[in-house]
Amino acid sequence: MDDNNFIDSANIQVDIKQIWESAKNFVSTQVSGVSYDVWIDTLEAVDLKGNTLVLSTPSASSQNVLKQRYKTKIAAACNKAHSAITDVEFIVESQSDETLKEESENTNETVTIEKKPTLTSSTFNQKFTFDNFVIGSSNQFVAAAAKAVAERPGTNCNPLFIWGGVGLGKTHLLHAIGNYITENKKNMNVVYVTTEKFTNDLIASIQNSKKGANSDFREKYRTCDVLIVDDIQFIINKNSVQEEFFHTFNELVMNGKQIVISSDKMPRDINPLEERLRSRFESGLIADVGVPDIETRIAIINKKAQLERYNISREAVEYIAEISKTNIREMEGRLSRAVFYSGLIGESITSLETTREALKDMITEDESQIDANKVLECVCKFYSIKKEELLARKRTKEVAQARQIAMYLISELIPMPLASIGNIFGKDHATVIYAKNKISEDMQKSKKLAIEINDMKQMIKGK
Ligand code: ADP
Ligand code: MG
Repeated sequence: MDDNNFIDSANIQVDIKQIWESAKNFVSTQVSGVSYDVWIDTLEAVDLKGNTLVLSTPSASSQNVLKQRYKTKIAAACNKAHSAITDVEFIVESQSDETLKEESENTNETVTIEKKPTLTSSTFNQKFTFDNFVIGSSNQFVAAAAKAVAERPGTNCNPLFIWGGVGLGKTHLLHAIGNYITENKKNMNVVYVTTEKFTNDLIASIQNSKKGANSDFREKYRTCDVLIVDDIQFIINKNSVQEEFFHTFNELVMNGKQIVISSDKMPRDINPLEERLRSRFESGLIADVGVPDIETRIAIINKKAQLERYNISREAVEYIAEISKTNIREMEGRLSRAVFYSGLIGESITSLETTREALKDMITEDESQIDANKVLECVCKFYSIKKEELLARKRTKEVAQARQIAMYLISELIPMPLASIGNIFGKDHATVIYAKNKISEDMQKSKKLAIEINDMKQMIKGK
């Protein structure tokens, strides 16, 4: 098989797979981690035509994105990797036997990941590692902070206070810190506790001491090297727990031990909370896990599918990512449901149709109430243009922007696969991605546009 990689082009014997591997390394330094995972890492070098390296991509839509957004960078990287290559071309990989074979080979790789030795004493979920945590612009900072703490506990970022909405990866990061330290710093004693368990342990220890029994509560929580406390927001209204936690906190920090805390709110919004505790929470580094953008969500599903060895079509992945905008746990639930449903009907690869069918009852009313027509009408009204103009191929600058705004709004407000949004306009899914990115960028540059779009959103939602 390796021999097939060698191509004799203009008398230069080159191993295209190897060249592509080095080129990929160059590209990875030029694009964001998520873009790399979604668009670049899935490419494969298949041929060399003259000085053009032919790369195969899984779908026609990614082919367009690659052409529009990454071609120059990829060509430059390939040229760096081998000076004989001056250009690249993208072809769409056919679902041939070859592809299926490779997919099953890829799946095998994940077995090795899963077969890492499990630390029996560990209280940490072995799947919640840094490797399995997908980084995008929303969580880049918090992930870097968590990694820094895991590498050098107790030295800075103390306490590290991680906050953010439900299902966005807080517990995952806490476990990732725990897993990392247990694996790399074997002499360190890491204690992970939910606020609920801390409370229960404290109550038990008070009851024990009343009976004259010895309590190891303080021994456990005040002598560890790293204390990780999940969901601290549940500490409100529990005075004795707040008091105990305050002393535990002081004792640990004074001795240079690391504290990591998670919460669904920022310290200033946890109420009622003793002021002295709030100021402790604010004394280190506060970082939030934001709501991930579409590319990060796609990458998270792909990661999960790889770990769980799910076989799911790209369109289905995009659909699930599209309809799950604010909660990753919910998104993962939708993924498992779709795969399960597809297994029941004997599908070998979970398709878009099956996914839609499996999830049709799970989409909340809010998400399904608005239809695309409403968005089109609103955009037309706002910019005083006719719907035919908006949908026509004509390209005056104003209409082109209105069309991109319509695509952007539909994708923001309606759980629809990107390809179906594209269909409305006679375009493909890559055009929709392009429009979304373009409008997001334009909104950052122009406050006026951001306000207009927000107004349209409110109009569409009927507010
Ligand atoms: P929280 O504690 O914030 O409510 P969790 O940490 O329990 O959320 O995350 C919910 C699920 O989403 C977990 O299965 C977790 O692995 C997954 N998840 C969240 N963010 C990411 C991410 N960036 N990469 C991979 N998986 C993620
Ligand atoms: Mg949690």
